[in-house]
Amino acid sequence: MASLSLKHIFKVYDGGVKAVNDFTMDIADNEFIVFVGPSGCGKSTTLRMIAGLEDITAGELRIDDEIVNDYEPKDRNIAMVFQNYALYPHMTVYENMAFSLRTAHVPNDVIYEKVTEAAEILGITQYLDRKPKALSGGQRQRVALGRAIVRNPKVFLLDEPLSNLDAKLRTAMRAEISRLHERLKTTFIYVTHDQVEAMTMGTRIVVMKDGYIQQIDTPINLYKYPDNMFVAGFIGTPQMNFFDATITKNGEDVVYKLDCGPSIEMKYIHTDKVPLKYMDSKTKVVFGIRPDDVRVRSNKYVDDGMWAPLQAVVSVVEVLGGETIIYANLNLDTPDDEVGAIIIKADPDTFVKRGDIIDIELSRRKFHVFDKTTEQSIRKRIPQENIIKGNITNNTLEISSQEFKLPSAIKAEDVKDTEVIIPVSAISLGNGVGKAKVEWIEQIDNIVLYFLKVGDLTIFAKEEGTPRFKINDEVSFEIDLSQITITASSVQPLNLVNRLDGVFIKEKENKNDYNFFMKIGEHKLAPSNRICEKLFACKGPKIFNTDLVYEFNTKDISVLTVKEPNKLIGKITEVLDYGTKKYSKVDLSCGIITVEYSGQIGEEVVLDIDVDKITIIDKSIDIIIV
Ligand code: ADP
Repeated sequence: MASLSLKHIFKVYDGGVKAVNDFTMDIADNEFIVFVGPSGCGKSTTLRMIAGLEDITAGELRIDDEIVNDYEPKDRNIAMVFQNYALYPHMTVYENMAFSLRTAHVPNDVIYEKVTEAAEILGITQYLDRKPKALSGGQRQRVALGRAIVRNPKVFLLDEPLSNLDAKLRTAMRAEISRLHERLKTTFIYVTHDQVEAMTMGTRIVVMKDGYIQQIDTPINLYKYPDNMFVAGFIGTPQMNFFDATITKNGEDVVYKLDCGPSIEMKYIHTDKVPLKYMDSKTKVVFGIRPDDVRVRSNKYVDDGMWAPLQAVVSVVEVLGGETIIYANLNLDTPDDEVGAIIIKADPDTFVKRGDIIDIELSRRKFHVFDKTTEQSIRKRIPQENIIKGNITNNTLEISSQEFKLPSAIKAEDVKDTEVIIPVSAISLGNGVGKAKVEWIEQIDNIVLYFLKVGDLTIFAKEEGTPRFKINDEVSFEIDLSQITITASSVQPLNLVNRLDGVFIKEKENKNDYNFFMKIGEHKLAPSNRICEKLFACKGPKIFNTDLVYEFNTKDISVLTVKEPNKLIGKITEVLDYGTKKYSKVDLSCGIITVEYSGQIGEEVVLDIDVDKITIIDKSIDIIIV
């Protein structure tokens, strides 16, 4: 039983290949985690770093709260099962399974007990006297699993263990490994390039591409709420259908005009998570719909609001028995083109043939929209930003006829009908001059997402816990104006992440002792033991010649009333009044940082930084090392 924590894990191979970038996740005890992605995306490298078979270039790996970066593989209490079984050909199955226990000098009777028990679990008792060459592929894989089980490891790592087996055996072994996980109640981490394997086995799945995590979620959430086009296309068979499109909003009506011809009409409430800026009739988006969320209609269309009618011309029909897959095109003149191609998962009793023009319906609830350039979802389950339109007059922001006096820190030029971006996290409910009506509420895990009607706009706010308000409640709200963007008026969010260049130094205290410091310009900050350990673990003595960037968040900085040694000291150059919050810009001679403090210009301040919250970046390779 074990939990794992991977923080900012990087792997750079000799020659500079960045195989894994900033891999961060917590794995709870007894989870079945699957790493999935195309070949070369960094799955095996990550697994091998967990096993200790590959050095971790930067980052922190904990097993049960203990940092194990420098532990030998044998000291990590982990067992790994490989694709190519790696059995000893000259030993019997029994001896293969007993091998690691023998080298650990476990008494014979204990070995016998463990091996026979594992053999029983795996159903290979009758083969214990055979040599591996007298076993089938599936049986050999069971022996490989048995070798792992007898060691009673805290964590099981499995690297594509089924890829050498034929399709039928693979399916059977998949179920067997899932049962094994339930029986052993241990943490499993499983690597595969096969999304079906990932979906059927994982309690959570990590989708990777080009060394980066794309999304971590449960199988069902990856399927229903993919964060980007890669995940949307990778998870689910047949693949999601994608169409280039533009969006037009006319009051409460919204139209998705597909580049291949037809339009999909719906009410604004079905698509209000898509930021308004995309609904300008010209910004390119990608409309996505899964083959399961399209249906073939045989009778007259009745608009119940949930399904949008379209037509398609049939290209190919695959009758699979339990279901029928129809390959068609929304452009009725080009059945075989890629543009306009749509795959439909239909009932097995749908009888259509090539050339037929069929009436189809697309779900108005279960569709996806992506930014054409970034390929990120713009209909996220929890929106990050409210991107809306507003007017500025006399430093007052007007949104849907409601006025928000801008504080003195913001000097906005007068503009009409301009884009205003308000992070969802910058809206707080219960107080303030804003008035809204709760239109809808979604509980997503521990987050409550409020759909607030403000005039004809929907604005999102989120809170942790359970809902404090009900649908149709009138609520007041406040906007943290330090975080808004009004591009046309040059208003940018106040940067609360401070980055300063620096180095790490040692100073001799006496003959044998050194003091270590984080040096930023002329300032010296005392590091915590944790920081020292991590810097040395990562760079060794080379740390003293490395250019670093120290990054700290404004919320982790406080102002001290008395001078103390080894703190940052600077002069206030600007005081920013954001109404509910006040900030000062402090000049440290080597850079300027923002603190939440209302001081006087020219005042000298001593800053206390929660050093354990600092992020440290190795500047030359742009990698987070602490
Ligand atoms: P996956 O398991 O997802 O197929 P890997 O983790 O094996 O991917 O590889 C990730 C990247 O690192 C690939 O670009 C691969 O070529 C590279 N790589 C893997 N092992 C080494 C190595 N020993 N030396 C240099 N590059 C490597």
